Amino acid sequence: MKQVEKTKENLEMCNCLKCPSYTTSCKIKEMPHNMMDMLKGIENIEGLENLFCAYTKSRCIDEDKGCLCNVCRVHDKYDLEDGHYCIVDGGFH
Ligand code: SF4
Ligand code: SF4
Repeated sequence: MKQVEKTKENLEMCNCLKCPSYTTSCKIKEMPHNMMDMLKGIENIEGLENLFCAYTKSRCIDEDKGCLCNVCRVHDKYDLEDGHYCIVDGGFH
């Protein structure tokens, strides 16, 4: 298990936006924050409402409706063992 890097490449591989736990209301609520954060630069921000294994858990998602981490290429690349990083902090932070 390795520290997941906060990179665009990893963000592109992340499945969170396709995940049923990432509800439409959270997507709408967090979209402006995410856009602002992306402008600051993905490596320079403390939290992002996406790529949760590299950042912290979500401030919006609070219910487990399934997880796509175990079929994610980031999960493979960094030998991650868990999932649900939006609800439970992964232990890197
Ligand atoms: S961390 Fe897992 S449960 Fe949470 S949004 Fe991403 S894929 Fe879904
Ligand atoms: S392991 Fe989960 S949180 Fe991490 S990039 Fe993949 S889908 Fe996103």
